Amino acid sequence: MPPQREWLEKDYYAVLGVSSTATDKEITRAYRKLAKQYHPDANPGAEDRFKEISAAYDVLGDDAKRKEYDEVRRLGAAGMGGFGGFPGGFGGPGGQNIRIEDLGDLGDLLGGLGGVFGGGGRRQRTAGPRRGADVETELYLSFEDAVRGITTGVHVKGEGRCPTCSGSGAAPGTTPVVCPRCSGKGVLDEPQGLFSLSRVCPECAGRGTKIEKPCRTCKGSGVTPQTREVKVRIPPGVEDGQRIRVKGRGEAGRANGPPGDLYVTVHVGAHPLFGRRARNLTITVPITYPEAALGTTVTVPTLEGQVTLRIPPGTPPGKTFRVKGRGVPSHGRSGPGDLLVTVDLTVPATLTDEQRAAVEELARVSTEVPRAHLGVS
Ligand SMILES: [Zn+2]
Ligand SMILES: [Zn+2]
Repeated sequence: MPPQREWLEKDYYAVLGVSSTATDKEITRAYRKLAKQYHPDANPGAEDRFKEISAAYDVLGDDAKRKEYDEVRRLGAAGMGGFGGFPGGFGGPGGQNIRIEDLGDLGDLLGGLGGVFGGGGRRQRTAGPRRGADVETELYLSFEDAVRGITTGVHVKGEGRCPTCSGSGAAPGTTPVVCPRCSGKGVLDEPQGLFSLSRVCPECAGRGTKIEKPCRTCKGSGVTPQTREVKVRIPPGVEDGQRIRVKGRGEAGRANGPPGDLYVTVHVGAHPLFGRRARNLTITVPITYPEAALGTTVTVPTLEGQVTLRIPPGTPPGKTFRVKGRGVPSHGRSGPGDLLVTVDLTVPATLTDEQRAAVEELARVSTEVPRAHLGVS
């Protein structure tokens, strides 16, 4: 289950009255005490408080969830962007009441108080609206497409919206009708002693609608196994191994449940000339010794045409020049990257007689002592 947005707003440690370094035992002890004290049977009107305590323990009482919670709190609001929705649970339909399914998990802890809980409803959640599964897929991009960005199709396997009934689950020509038992709410409010409970409507399993004549293609589920092509917009500058979330394009939800998300892991191919360093492109340009010594102007390829670059006299090999704005194109808040041109020195493998004479003359007049700092001659 993904972290909930409430995590950012609610200090569950404070709710249970324990410190953030409390041991599992201390947390469980605090929870039991509070659950007894605020249980709606013992303390009418305390359902909100009870619900809060239960929500706090649901997280802090589970090692993995507690770690996630601490992390979410640490990252604060900055981390909110990436979280998915939170299916089911509190805040769903009938959110003001306690729902039987939510209390069901407490059964063993509350022991004798469980009389009102064990009842129907709990198991039926699976038949109600259900979020579609998330889907993982991979995409192979050329170096250029990764730099420039591209809109492309990926194939997604899994449950998709039934083409015959468009996901309604009802046979063509018919439509689902509003459930007569719950009037479309999906839950039934039932007074239980001093407080009121909602339970999932058994007539429609929480959908709020009823299908009188099920679609024959999907047998009323509204989904069929299929392979779909999903258009994915890849922003400029995507990196090899990056995972991109496409909201709502995973498997279709059942019974009006929301769809899952699609995650696309991108693989970026190599380029024969260019490399990538974040938003910058890199290239190595060989020059001759005379060009390095005397200075020159070289033509350098970029992903979009060519540029000329002035190499000043006395340029050492390995020196890098920056050509502004010729890297990854600007996108969103990030400006364009640059092209980083590193010069390399070529040495001729063979010389003509004339060249040999010229180089020998150069050696004769040379006064350089390049190895002096090594203490050798
Ligand atoms: Zn169908
Ligand atoms: Zn109903």
